[in-house]
Amino acid sequence: MKILSTLHNHCTMCDGRSTPEEMLSAAAAAGFSDLGMSCHGYAPFDPAYSISGEEEYLTAMTALTAAWSDRLRLHTGIEEDLFAPSAMPERYDYRIGDVHYARDRSTGELVPVDGSVEDLHRVIRRLFRGNAMDMVRDYYDNMVAAAERRPLVIGHFDLITKYNQKARFFDEDSDEYRELASQALEACLAGGAVFEINAGAAVKGLRSVPYPAPFLLQRLRELGGQITLSADCHYAPLLTAGLDLAARCARDAGFEEALQFIDGRFVPFPL
Ligand SMILES: [Zn+2]
Ligand SMILES: [Zn+2]
Repeated sequence: MKILSTLHNHCTMCDGRSTPEEMLSAAAAAGFSDLGMSCHGYAPFDPAYSISGEEEYLTAMTALTAAWSDRLRLHTGIEEDLFAPSAMPERYDYRIGDVHYARDRSTGELVPVDGSVEDLHRVIRRLFRGNAMDMVRDYYDNMVAAAERRPLVIGHFDLITKYNQKARFFDEDSDEYRELASQALEACLAGGAVFEINAGAAVKGLRSVPYPAPFLLQRLRELGGQITLSADCHYAPLLTAGLDLAARCARDAGFEEALQFIDGRFVPFPL
């Protein structure tokens, strides 16, 4: 599939390595017609990772949209974590809804679930008394809550598996896990959002397949869900990295088309 547009991209206004201009140049060089920028929404509890303010971000993106309008269309999005909701969601062209943290119910502290193996272990020990499946249940409940904010796209649906290689903490093949994830997928789908096939962690070698896992992609297809491909790019040279793999996984799950965001709306393209 010829890639003309992706929506899940970061830059130096959050935790990306490349400037917005470098991202735009890479998109133009790759033949994109449209590029979505989706920096992590303002999260005062995690400043290194998020934008420093919504107005500042929106102002910068508006200026870039105008400056690049004769070369490609820039769409201003936000990756909106459940725990860092936008105060002005209507001002974005689109939102990607997802979850990167677990909340400590006694202290209110938010702890990343996608930081490292050690971080995830600490979350399970401290927040869930060593019960990893309780953490999984909490994570998917939070994903459903994130979907209730009606984002355009559901981001990296099963991110909770990122540091669970070799079933270190929980068994992703167990009926219990599959049931929890499948039920959450159905609930998220009920909100009408498109699911991304996110190749970010696969490109970094952290996973062999993109999010969501193949059994979830198959379930999504059975339920009539729609997909878009994303690199979750943080570094301009990797703008399209992993998208071939994402397309192959989509075809393997039986999808025949994926959506690309062109001139402000999703358009289906054969895979
Ligand atoms: Zn993310
Ligand atoms: Zn992202």
